[in-house]
Amino acid sequence: MTALLALTATVFTQASPTKRVALVFDDGPRPGNAEPLLALLAQEKIHVTFSLVGDRVNENPATPKTIAAAGHEIANHSQTHAHPRDLDAPALDREVASAQRIITAAVGPAPKWYWPPYIEVDDRVRTAVARENLAIYTPRRLVASMDYDPKVPAVEILYRATTDISEGTVILFHEWRS
Ligand SMILES: [Zn+2]
Repeated sequence: MTALLALTATVFTQASPTKRVALVFDDGPRPGNAEPLLALLAQEKIHVTFSLVGDRVNENPATPKTIAAAGHEIANHSQTHAHPRDLDAPALDREVASAQRIITAAVGPAPKWYWPPYIEVDDRVRTAVARENLAIYTPRRLVASMDYDPKVPAVEILYRATTDISEGTVILFHEWRS
């Protein structure tokens, strides 16, 4: 090993003993699943992002308060979780704006991020999001745990969520998956 490589290896070993990642839990609030998840996150002393759907917040207004009170970040994940491509521009605006209003009313501070359903982004989505003074959440690297596929077992979700993870990776989960 050359001196430079040795030095680089030393620096990386000392400066990066662990990797920093972010966890995102989509499609909540889901009472019943949220409570054990919040307990686990508290036990592990980590904070995550919950991306909430306006319709779900309407049905379960207490759960977002519990999530926010525990110190987790909350993102806007649309009003109905419709595919943007199925919506005209006014409907798309409503998807973003009404969720923003409902989530803000439920938890207090307005979400800063819009996390698009199905990660579908086009110019109309960008316009609707900008109109609400939101930013589209844009991970530098996203790893899907595949928990949204009921055929994918827990052991594979664990493997996907912990393999080939680099610094700054966002790992995607869903609150409805038990
Ligand atoms: Zn979703």
